[in-house]
Amino acid sequence: MSEKTDLLKKTDKCIRCGTCIAFCPVARAGLPVNSRYFASEGFRTPRREKQTSKDSFNCTLCMACVNVCPRGVPVPLVVEYLRGQAGEKELPSNIKQMVENIRESGNIHGADKEDWLMWTYELEEPVEDRIKVPAEVGYFVGCNSAYSPSTARIPAATVKLFRMANVDFTILGPDETCCAAPLLMAGRLREAKKLIEDNVKAFKNLKIKTLVTSCPACFRMWRDVYPKITEIPFRVEHITQFISRLIEEGKLKPESVGDLRVVYHDPCELARGCGVIEEPRKALKNIPGLKLKEYKQCKDEAICCGGGGLLRAYNLETAEKAAKNKIREAEELGVDAIVTSCPACLQNLIKSKNKIKIIDIAELFQGQHSETNR
Ligand code: SF4
Ligand code: SF4
Repeated sequence: MSEKTDLLKKTDKCIRCGTCIAFCPVARAGLPVNSRYFASEGFRTPRREKQTSKDSFNCTLCMACVNVCPRGVPVPLVVEYLRGQAGEKELPSNIKQMVENIRESGNIHGADKEDWLMWTYELEEPVEDRIKVPAEVGYFVGCNSAYSPSTARIPAATVKLFRMANVDFTILGPDETCCAAPLLMAGRLREAKKLIEDNVKAFKNLKIKTLVTSCPACFRMWRDVYPKITEIPFRVEHITQFISRLIEEGKLKPESVGDLRVVYHDPCELARGCGVIEEPRKALKNIPGLKLKEYKQCKDEAICCGGGGLLRAYNLETAEKAAKNKIREAEELGVDAIVTSCPACLQNLIKSKNKIKIIDIAELFQGQHSETNR
């Protein structure tokens, strides 16, 4: 059965009940296209398909719809398929540019490899001695953080945390390339095979036992997508799992953050996509002084902040409206900060101008955290 026939059969099950719409972040941000639209209109006619293919870039691929759908309609798979139907010329310009950047420079920004170390500038101890050395743990920084001033603080905090816990780690340095998640989100995973094989080979050569990522999209690629393409001879963990394990094994003793009330925002790829829900909470509850609150809709029912699925590249206004919805809800909870564990969430929440602090989980274990939303 072809992929399209299979998806057609599945979307035929949609009863247009609208249950999914209440959880769809783009619908909540006011867009007329939403989960039910993709399910019921996706393949209606070839002409409609051309339009839905264009509209599909408005989806954050957050998976909230399929999580609540009583008929199990896999809307995100429909969206990925529709994106794949867009020819090179039909790709939205920012997304086309991003795909070309990965092809030509190996990162989403089209940055020079030499700039990869940019995220280390604020570190007191250099990391050059950790580049491509055999070690227990391989840290995959991810190109969104390595080259982006607004999220460079995530790998910087992660490396500090590794040092606090005496973790024997290695990084690939300027030779690290994109994990290929943006190619999957743009419907172009088929061209990512070589990139994936090169990433795996690089860490295999360093004989690591565990690979750690900060980004949930990188994590899902390494844990769930890469093994479909090549063998992965090491364990893959998201930083929240790794931190939780370090605390459990007594290797990391979190310092007090004073009196800090936070709400944890579940990144969609991490909670719904990978089922990592309890580990970040377990880690946060071990920080002296931290009081953890929950969003009304949290864990696998968390509402997306709008930072996923390349929405920021396609429709910045809607991405920021979705973020503002999350910020408003956090303010209503009376917290000082939103804590998350994803560079795309951090970026989207920070850029959506607000007073509340936005903190990455890795920043909270050293007795201090970022005071400003850059
Ligand atoms: S996709 Fe599922 S939840 Fe959404 S309208 Fe169709 S049947 Fe209802
Ligand atoms: S994946 Fe998320 S953004 Fe996309 S249609 Fe479903 S609920 Fe809406």
